[in-house]
Amino acid sequence: MIVFKKVNDIKLYIEKREKSNPPIAFVPTMGALHRGHISLIDTAKADKLFTVCSIFVNPTQFNNHQDFNKYPITIEKDIYLLEKAGCDVLFLPSAEEIYPDGQKKLAQYDLGYIETILEGKYRPGHFQGVCQVVQRLLEIVQPTVLYLGQKDYQQCMVIDKLINIMKSDIKLNICPTQRETNGLAMSSRNMRLNEAEKIQAQKIHETLQSIKNGLATHDPEELKRTAIDNLSANGFVVDYVEIADAKTLQPIENRDNTSTVVVLIAAYLNEVRLIDNLLITN
Ligand code: AMP
Repeated sequence: MIVFKKVNDIKLYIEKREKSNPPIAFVPTMGALHRGHISLIDTAKADKLFTVCSIFVNPTQFNNHQDFNKYPITIEKDIYLLEKAGCDVLFLPSAEEIYPDGQKKLAQYDLGYIETILEGKYRPGHFQGVCQVVQRLLEIVQPTVLYLGQKDYQQCMVIDKLINIMKSDIKLNICPTQRETNGLAMSSRNMRLNEAEKIQAQKIHETLQSIKNGLATHDPEELKRTAIDNLSANGFVVDYVEIADAKTLQPIENRDNTSTVVVLIAAYLNEVRLIDNLLITN
């Protein structure tokens, strides 16, 4: 695996690649890699693409300083995992490389209502930051396919919108959420949970499952209320539990058997904010 730290170096390398080489698959990450991230690399390799991973903890997408400062960094282990997975290139830039003109006057994107609901509502400015870094990375890496995790469901929708705004023909490959055996969605933030909290945190996935099971017979509003009460009784501080149309993220009023539904949860367990979701198809 070749590691680049400078924008100019990776750009030159990509420009000089033989045109007959496989197309580029890109897996942007913030590091502290786990099996969820590696599953994206594995999928890109299985698709026989030239695989570029980036690790950059993007300051502009954090609306909470403590979350940014405490974001886990495990770069040596990350490099080991990427090498083992057969990743071809790692891009490991500094903030100065990504934002050479500073972070004050960056582009703003018209993302519409998607930016004001769910994650957008509870993390103001977050998706602007996501778009700022992803556009920059896409322009540097020039991928054909972008690999993202369903774990960040709304983020996938935002990036899809960004690609439209950019008038780009980059394809999205959204890969399933990898979980611990107890159902907890893998996340770099799980490293900040102690053993007892990791057991407690499985409640989020259990709640998603019980909403899924309850939807055939229960009203969505009632299911959401019960879920919030249950999570709160189990020590979580809930940002939201939503049962929404999977295409629009608008809350559903009743179960319409024709449309795909996504159930989404964001909740704090002590200081750590966890998100997860479950797609319900017919
Ligand atoms: P992050 O490092 O958290 O920004 O995540 C980088 C990419 O990995 C994003 O596309 C995430 O959606 C994806 N990802 C994170 N956790 C998981 C998981 N448990 N399963 C699958 N993909 C994931």
